Amino acid sequence: MMATMKKPAPAFAAIGETPLTALPGVGTRVAEKLAARGLLTLQDLWLQLPRQYEDRTSLTPIRQLQPGVAAQAEGTVEAVERGFRYRPMLRVAIGDESRATLVLRFFHFRAAQVAQFVPGARVRCYGTPRAGQHGLEIVHPSYRVVDGEDATALGEQLDPVYPAIEGIGPASLRKLIGLALDRLPDTAELELLPPAVLRDRALPSLREALLTVHRPPQDADVAALSAGTHPAQRRLALEELLAHHLSLRRQRIALQAHAAPRLRGGALAERLRKALPFALTGAQQRVYEQILADLDKPMPMLRLMQGDVGSGKTVVAALSALLAIENGRQAALMAPTELLAEQHLSNLRGWLEPLGVRIAWLAGKVTGRARASVLAAVADGQAQFVVGTHALMQEGVVFKDLALAIVDEQHRFGVHQRLALRDKGSARNGDDPGVVPHQLVMTATPIPRTLAMAAYADLDVSAIDELPPGRTPVQTVVLSAERRPELIERIRGACAEGRQAYWVCTLIDDSDEVVAQAAQGTFEALSAALPEVRVGLVHGRMKPADKQATMRAFKEGAVDLLVATTVIEVGVDVPNASLMIVENAERLGLAQLHQLRGRVGRGSAASNCVLLYQSPLSAMARQRLETMRQTNDGFVIAEKDLELRGPGELLGTRQTGLAAFRVADLARDAGMLPVVHEIGEQLLREAPEIADKLVERWIGGAARYASA
Ligand code: ADP
Ligand code: MG
Repeated sequence: MMATMKKPAPAFAAIGETPLTALPGVGTRVAEKLAARGLLTLQDLWLQLPRQYEDRTSLTPIRQLQPGVAAQAEGTVEAVERGFRYRPMLRVAIGDESRATLVLRFFHFRAAQVAQFVPGARVRCYGTPRAGQHGLEIVHPSYRVVDGEDATALGEQLDPVYPAIEGIGPASLRKLIGLALDRLPDTAELELLPPAVLRDRALPSLREALLTVHRPPQDADVAALSAGTHPAQRRLALEELLAHHLSLRRQRIALQAHAAPRLRGGALAERLRKALPFALTGAQQRVYEQILADLDKPMPMLRLMQGDVGSGKTVVAALSALLAIENGRQAALMAPTELLAEQHLSNLRGWLEPLGVRIAWLAGKVTGRARASVLAAVADGQAQFVVGTHALMQEGVVFKDLALAIVDEQHRFGVHQRLALRDKGSARNGDDPGVVPHQLVMTATPIPRTLAMAAYADLDVSAIDELPPGRTPVQTVVLSAERRPELIERIRGACAEGRQAYWVCTLIDDSDEVVAQAAQGTFEALSAALPEVRVGLVHGRMKPADKQATMRAFKEGAVDLLVATTVIEVGVDVPNASLMIVENAERLGLAQLHQLRGRVGRGSAASNCVLLYQSPLSAMARQRLETMRQTNDGFVIAEKDLELRGPGELLGTRQTGLAAFRVADLARDAGMLPVVHEIGEQLLREAPEIADKLVERWIGGAARYASA
């Protein structure tokens, strides 16, 4: 019979992609506020996950409330005080059968609210108590006045708390999300993960997982939900990590659909190798060969060269650049700080100019006619190798024929900056815009393997996992700042023996200016205490020419003790320096300490690093310093860093948006990454349309938000 014929079920996309204006109560104004946060469709609201939960399923007697522990309590209004001292204030004291009093304190309130708090009224409130003037108080609790009828009815489930959205109150937001969830389709329409993946890991369906996290059932494991380890959350994290992985992989696939110039030969590079005062290490050789194989292909190389500080990445980059130059094209090297870029420039000049390579320098400080002439040389190909800072990415910089873009210390640049340099190669006049340069990114931040899988799924990774021979490991000691006088004597002795030393100044307030002042002060104090020692100073506020002059003097041995800010953290290379003192070392992260320490131990002399700390030390700082004392191995340090600080810090805030996961937490969920990788590759091979849907589901909205 015709009447029994069902309408075809709407495709998943149709429900998930329903605009939010379809919900009752969402007019254009509310829709705009939601859109400002990337929330456009029902699906976006389904994935707007609770940040935490409030447990209103029970009442805690006031006497048993504890500072810092969120709880629900109920009591009768005993006193109300409305004051105006520095700002309006309302204090309401409630008491309960446990014969204790709790103060509810409000700084913003309406007259209607005040009217509710008549003595004797029964108030139920939720919040985190703290110690106040008169016992415990809760500032701005959520509360309601309960009348006799529902006085006993408690919440049946944990209440989700959502990230705040400007202009939409928490209750309205909760209601909207509830309405969106009511339209959640059944599993057949919603599920994108292969059934076997869920079955093998005993993970719930997406529908079940979403309902669990948004509306935790009465018997839900509260502790697991709060910790983010509930199977429902793990399932969501798995899908989110997968979407992230797929998105990076797709970027790579899209990029590799472009052509890149094949770079072959190697005669010029061979000449550099012969001229070097050292032989490449096995690891350098291996990585160089991997790069050669990539450059020989007609599609763009996308390679990360990872190597601990001092492992010798620069020379491998130089050899690679020579391939581009030998093929009549250009190479560029971009570094995150001027100091580092300058140092590359001086190394590269020393190595490449004898081979007749024309190198150009471009930094922000290169202006006016000098800049115009550099830009002209870059544009007409006169400049074969362009070295510089972010200035390389600026508008107006047009390469004639960029074939290899090298980015040093990649973790300091965002992905977008990395890509901007690549785009410089496709802006060539009259050339095929489908051709892009090869990309080589270098980092000394050793990234644990699992994390690298997530952060760099769009790159091939090469590791220089061996240091040049003849280096002696740095001995590290941790000392209280009170022992500074002893230390100064030690520096006197070391300098008398012809050793050179760094004294690194750091502060909590690391604004350039304040640190520069502190460095200036230390410089003066050390100069006075050590009259026979030649002391130099570099900091970020100095003129580049002065900075360079001091660095050169240090490198040439005309300065014995260099007082510096962390500007020397990356890349600075003075092999004769064998002693480093780091002030306030407790304030630095492990990765940064490791970078700093990497400035010594570059020559054959035994080197020492002294980490000075101010007491008292926090437990975390103590662990960090202890780790530094125990090991020189960048990978061990990175793993420890990940454990202590989490991935956001380790990768830098400007990293790919890894910090912006909705449920996933790389430190907690790192164990899933190999599986994510496996499922991701399988989907790309066998079901690319599902891969597209996953990316759109998890990242589509966020991408719209980012570009808004
Ligand atoms: P990083 O990987 O930290 O950037 P660099 O490229 O600055 O390291 O190299 C550190 C130092 O080691 C430089 O002085 C460089 O010339 C030197 N070096 C590089 N490779 C070798 C090698 N194979 N043998 C000896 N010294 C090397
Ligand atoms: Mg380097």
